[in-house]
Amino acid sequence: MSDRAKEQTLAEIAPASYECRACGYVYEPSKGDSTSNVPPGTAFDDLSIDWRCPVCSAKKSVFTNIGAKNAPSGFQENLNYGLGVNNLTPGQKNLAIFGALALAFLFFLSLYGLN
Ligand SMILES: [Zn+2]
Repeated sequence: MSDRAKEQTLAEIAPASYECRACGYVYEPSKGDSTSNVPPGTAFDDLSIDWRCPVCSAKKSVFTNIGAKNAPSGFQENLNYGLGVNNLTPGQKNLAIFGALALAFLFFLSLYGLN
C-alpha cells in the first residue's frame, strides 16, 4: 500500500450513482435496490445486464452516470468549468449586478456634472 491511495478524494473513491433518464430514479450503490434484491454496496456496473429501473422498468442503458453522490464534488450543476460567472453564488452575482448598476449610476452622475 502506498500513501498515494490515501490522496484520492472522496469523489474518486465513492462508487458513482446512476440516474434513470426516463423517470429520474437514482441508483445509489451504497443503498442497492431492495426491489430487485440488490444488496447495498453493489456498484451499478455490477448489476446484472437484465436489471431494470425499479420505478419505470427502463433498461440499464437508459441510466446515466451522475457521479458519486454526497461526495464533495458530486453536484453536477456546479461543474461549469470555463464559465467563471456560473461558479459565483447567487449572493455574489447580486453583488456584481448591483456593483455594475452603481458604477453606471456614478458614470451618469459624472456626465451630468460635466454639463
Ligand atoms: Zn426509471
